[in-house]
Amino acid sequence: MEKYILYTRKSTDTEDKQVLSIDAQLAELRKYARDNELVVIDELIEKRTAKSPGRPIFNTMISRIQNGEANGILAWHPDRLARNSIDGGQIIYLLDQTSLNFLRFPVFQFENTSQGKFMLSIMFGQSKYYVDNLSENTKRGLRARVRNGDFPSQAPFGYLNDTRTKTIIVDKRYAPLVQELFEQYAKGDQTMENLAYFLQENGAITSGGKTFKDDKVKSILQNPFYYGHFLYCGELHEGRHKPIISKNLYDKVQAVIEKRGHTQKQTKPITPFLGLLRCAGCGMSITSETKTKTQKNGNFHSWTYYRCSRKKRAVKCVEPPVREKDLLPQLSGLLGEYAMSPEIYDFMTDKMSQDEQAESSSSLSLLDDLRTQVARLTAKQKILLDSYLDQDIDRQTFLAKKSEILSEKKSLEESLANLTANQNAWLEPMRKWLETAKSICYLRESNDFDGQKAVLSEIFGLNLFLENKTLTQNPNGESPKTTFRKGAESGFCLWQELQNTKEKIARESDISGKIPILVRRAGLEPARP
Ligand SMILES: [Zn+2]
Repeated sequence: MEKYILYTRKSTDTEDKQVLSIDAQLAELRKYARDNELVVIDELIEKRTAKSPGRPIFNTMISRIQNGEANGILAWHPDRLARNSIDGGQIIYLLDQTSLNFLRFPVFQFENTSQGKFMLSIMFGQSKYYVDNLSENTKRGLRARVRNGDFPSQAPFGYLNDTRTKTIIVDKRYAPLVQELFEQYAKGDQTMENLAYFLQENGAITSGGKTFKDDKVKSILQNPFYYGHFLYCGELHEGRHKPIISKNLYDKVQAVIEKRGHTQKQTKPITPFLGLLRCAGCGMSITSETKTKTQKNGNFHSWTYYRCSRKKRAVKCVEPPVREKDLLPQLSGLLGEYAMSPEIYDFMTDKMSQDEQAESSSSLSLLDDLRTQVARLTAKQKILLDSYLDQDIDRQTFLAKKSEILSEKKSLEESLANLTANQNAWLEPMRKWLETAKSICYLRESNDFDGQKAVLSEIFGLNLFLENKTLTQNPNGESPKTTFRKGAESGFCLWQELQNTKEKIARESDISGKIPILVRRAGLEPARP
């Protein structure tokens, strides 16, 4: 007995565009079944492509046929069953295995003979060929069009697709708006938002039927299509369409976009002296504020002032804010007092090198001395052990003498380690300090505000205050605890002071005045954390 499964399929693929709809297939197949008195046990509807294997409903149908539920398939055309070689081969295999005996198509005559199967395999093969060919043709067609300078896609805003000639033509309604857009933006005083509003006011809508937003305006302004080129697959091509703006205008607009992009990144105001100053009135930290104003001619003004953060609730602080341009000269002036003149810098560097040389030779001999002493003790230790083993001395004496030697040796070894580690340890910070002191000279003239702040906070710590728009060092009259000296003091005084400190420390140190190294504990180098 002939038992059929009715199979319909239509996908959204381009190659299925011409195929009957599912409903039409169903209607045709039902009529065909009625006319031919076929027994249909089930109707299956598939909405998948048959280009690749793996359709769920098709697969169920195959297993139901293998289980003997049915032995025939009714479909509109062989290409409904398979457009790939695996599914096509499966149908022919089932026919060979005789679990499938009948295939019926209203538009194709099939007989289950070797000749019929041959014809069927040709039909399946043809379907596959059709698929391959179509996508190949589509690609080839697109490539050819791109090579010819035809943009193979939807025309951008300001242009229209002429379906008759398959070319892109100027949209007389919107093209003037696009021109206006470019011209306005090139002036440099228009924002994307303004231009989007301009388009909305003129009744322009996107191809998707929406109103224009700033990002869409930006994509228009950055589309080379308008001056005659077009982007396709990431590649720029020369187009055949009519440009509506000049390349020159396009370039101007790109320059403005670039410039705007950079200025937008800098909208965060730069206030370099934050955290350095405190309010003399209430002791709270000084904060900064930046005001901006855009003038009618498009010029952009901004100014910064520093004011008390007014964080102390109990005190109603009345200290007035100070403009940055009034504060900067004061800070620079203050720095200037601490600048080290080149002469003093040279003097100090000179002294330092002399000291370094003297010191390294003296510490070298000291090191030698310490090493000899350690070696002597090691030898002593060995003799002691030998005496004990030879039973020249008793155990008690041995232990007492041994601990004495070890203790002395440990102290020496520690001194040795210290000396090696601290040798010229003061030099590096000293050198840095000198460089900083010297750099103040040109730092105060420069715009390196971060550098100025770093040095100022090194000199003054938190002892800089703002009082009635004026910088004061410390309302209590204490001088800053700093290693920096005002420029008026001579380098010689400075050096003398350094030497005194060094000698003082050396006197106090363990190895009776021999270590000339520990200046950094309380010396003149900058107090670094
Ligand atoms: Zn205050």
